[in-house]
Amino acid sequence: MATVQVQEGPMTAIRAPVLKERGQREVFCGLTGIVWLHRKMQDAFFLVVGSRTCAHLLQSAAGVMIFAEPRFATAIIEERDLAGLADANEELDRVVGRLLDRRPDIRTLFLVGSCPSEVIKLDLAKAAQRLDRTPNARGAVRVLNYSGSGIETTFTQGEDACLAALVPEMPAGDVSQLLLVGALPDIVEDQFLRLFAEIGIPVVRCLPGRRAMDLPPVGAGTRFLMAQPFLGETAAALERRGAVRVDALFPFGAEGTTAWAGAAADAFGIDPMALRRAVAPGRERAKRALERARTVLQGKRISFLPDSQLEIPLARFLANELGMVPVEVGTPYLHKQHMAAELAALPAGVLLSEGQDVDRQLDRVRRERPDITVCGLGLANPLEAEGLTTKWSIELVFSPVHGFEQAGDLAELFARPLRRREMLRV
Ligand code: SF4
Repeated sequence: MATVQVQEGPMTAIRAPVLKERGQREVFCGLTGIVWLHRKMQDAFFLVVGSRTCAHLLQSAAGVMIFAEPRFATAIIEERDLAGLADANEELDRVVGRLLDRRPDIRTLFLVGSCPSEVIKLDLAKAAQRLDRTPNARGAVRVLNYSGSGIETTFTQGEDACLAALVPEMPAGDVSQLLLVGALPDIVEDQFLRLFAEIGIPVVRCLPGRRAMDLPPVGAGTRFLMAQPFLGETAAALERRGAVRVDALFPFGAEGTTAWAGAAADAFGIDPMALRRAVAPGRERAKRALERARTVLQGKRISFLPDSQLEIPLARFLANELGMVPVEVGTPYLHKQHMAAELAALPAGVLLSEGQDVDRQLDRVRRERPDITVCGLGLANPLEAEGLTTKWSIELVFSPVHGFEQAGDLAELFARPLRRREMLRV
């Protein structure tokens, strides 16, 4: 049964109670992250140790890769393989050996755990230790592991677990640097690197980088700025290495990106005038790009079902920059510190919910009948059939949506389904 709890700490003063829910969930699992992570880290390979279901999920989610030499695969483990665990470990070692012989381009290999009971019995952390630095034709391969299991997790946590596995591998170094954390499409990453160069921050590195092997150093001189809101484990791992998180809004929209870049500039003592000069052109372009979607979105009511963990920053962007009215903002997890600035910027009166009880949430959507509901793929079709307009939350993770140059496209992702619905009505 859902309970209403009042938030503790500094947010008590700024937010209404958060509805905490626990019940049936409808989300993709963390394996989904492989779809964008394998594109980002071009020397990495993701070997899912899982079942046929896991293999099917990956194939359908990333089907296009069957036409290329993929950088992911599934080692299918079945119950009978575990008649002796020693055999399963030997089989895994054999699969890894064969893979690394065949693919000398692999420099980092992730063994990705999954949730079938037969896989849970395998100790992949030990397997990764045993296989780490296995030589192939080009040198020793780094072997790491993380879990993409769908039990009690949501799909963006796969990236968090993957990046958290990389943090202990980062060399120690106290160089003063800004670290951008979160996988971004290369084109967006390049835009941000140019922006921070113009702002005057001398050393800016990214996690993950385009090559998993080239990890940036980390230490007391590192100030890290999260580009994605779902990286709680990674942030904690970086803090354990001495890095300090820069508190900021997330870089969605003209204002979000300005505040995000501004927080980094503050952390490096950049002159505010220099910051303003650097961000002004991008900010203006972003504002202009939002105008078209604003005519459609202004005054429209929106609900988010908990899925990607992007819900709160997106609701803030849509409310403050496009005049939308968030009705309910559901998030799978609410990280109080990481979300403090976002929550403070959300309009008053929004129902915030954490966790999922899908039936209750659907009941609320049916009662409220918002103009648009952001939800997982599995819930979108039934809602559309009931005459409600939806947006797939997974699309917001697959599309380039961060920064000034993408602000217009991000707004359009919400405006398009509303325009389509309007045309169908006509
Ligand atoms: Fe399904 Fe679990 Fe495999 Fe994900 S990890 S595809 S939820 S069996």
